[in-house]
Amino acid sequence: MRTLALSAVLCLGLAFPGLAQQLMGNRSCATNTYVEAMQAQHPSLGQEQQRVQQAVQQKLQQQRQWQNLRVATTITIPVVFHVLYSDEAENISDEQILSQLEVLNADFRRRNADAGNTPAHFAPYAADTRIEFCLAIIDPNGDPTTGITRTQTYRTEFDYAYDYIKKAENGGTNAWDTNRYLNIWVGNVKDKVLGYASMPGTTLPRLDGVVLHYTAVGAAPANKFGSEYNLGRTATHEVGHWLGLSHIWGDDDASCSDSDGISDTPNQKYYTTDCEGGIRISCDNGPYGDMYQNYMDYSFDACMNLFTHGQAAYMNAVISTSRSGLLSSLACSASIRSDFGMVREADSLVVAGESIQFAAASEGVRATEWLWEFEGGVPTTSTQENPVVTYPRPGKYSVKLTVRNGSTSDTEVKEGFVHVTVSDLTVFPNPTSDYLYIEQPARIRVRHVELINSLGKTVLTAETRHRTLQLDVQHLPSGVYFLRLTSTNGTEIRRISIVR
Ligand code: ZN
Ligand code: CA
Repeated sequence: MRTLALSAVLCLGLAFPGLAQQLMGNRSCATNTYVEAMQAQHPSLGQEQQRVQQAVQQKLQQQRQWQNLRVATTITIPVVFHVLYSDEAENISDEQILSQLEVLNADFRRRNADAGNTPAHFAPYAADTRIEFCLAIIDPNGDPTTGITRTQTYRTEFDYAYDYIKKAENGGTNAWDTNRYLNIWVGNVKDKVLGYASMPGTTLPRLDGVVLHYTAVGAAPANKFGSEYNLGRTATHEVGHWLGLSHIWGDDDASCSDSDGISDTPNQKYYTTDCEGGIRISCDNGPYGDMYQNYMDYSFDACMNLFTHGQAAYMNAVISTSRSGLLSSLACSASIRSDFGMVREADSLVVAGESIQFAAASEGVRATEWLWEFEGGVPTTSTQENPVVTYPRPGKYSVKLTVRNGSTSDTEVKEGFVHVTVSDLTVFPNPTSDYLYIEQPARIRVRHVELINSLGKTVLTAETRHRTLQLDVQHLPSGVYFLRLTSTNGTEIRRISIVR
């Protein structure tokens, strides 16, 4: 199987196919040009995209082993629409946006009213992707939202090449956490481009999402802009890209040597310009020919009506790999999830007697109450959001946080979360008869240990891998020895007695 988006990028021939296609009166999707522009601006994204595709292929291979690419579980993606408008026509109605959500749900679940238009020979390939969409009810701050933001802007149009629609400082609106939400920006996209999407791994996280021309959002009658693209299929197509799908003809404008990387879509030479009828053969794909009814072709909205099982499996594999944050998003659930970390330190390793500051990091509904329990800590409980706690004695201690907002609450316990070490480099017991233990405090790393006898001869050396090192001295005669410890703090020598 070919790698998908990469071939889409490499095989791109025209400099501005989005524009070119628009001028010829076709569906104008700027996803390829967008992906190419992003790659030019951020060369490291090429690697990221490859990494994403490898993970997806691995996932697909696993799935093939047990379910033959039929998708089993339903997942729901929280969506936020950001409407940018410079005049009232662009400030589209809630009704139009809700109709878009309906179309997405119908198309992805194969509950579209025109599913019967799929020709009988392609019907067995048509898939319920088991992907659904919900309007977010909780914003990134944990506050209630309609799932629609509306921002008046001085910009009368937005160029996809600059992505200004996604940048508040340039007259757009910033994304909501792109791990937890599908961001869909709506505005007057320049050159009548109907939409574009960031394929997985092709853009910066804060720019990830889908952009739609305001005239292409939702379905008539809620969509009042009479065009061939007023049934909400632009979003279906762009969300397909956002979930990793390439154009069905493989993106090289007239070739049979490229592919969309999906095995159950026929190899197709060229995109479809309007509303085809009957069987159209290209690339030896008889007897049934091109699947121009596929959402990833360029047909008019009224003439597309299916995703295939292969496309469904691919999109689900993308969700479970590079877009897995969506699976645990609480944006549509009005519930709360407890979590916490540290305010400053990356880990919770601390020297006895020192204090550390915890940071509540709950998700979903905004927390208004916190109840902490600190095993081994002082204080042992707190109701602050980010409490400071002192740990007097070495050991490993659990931390428990219950967060609450009204009647909604959740508790998270992390066993052994805090690791309190001795305050100094400690060697014990001394004198010893069989073993010596060397324990290191937090933030100091002993690298090398050397035991030297009274004649100045090295009798034992060791490298340390763990915080506590055990040295076997049973074979050494009684006497006085010197232990040389080389650590990140320098070198020090301890006098040790072995007695029997
Ligand atoms: Zn497209
Ligand atoms: Ca194919």
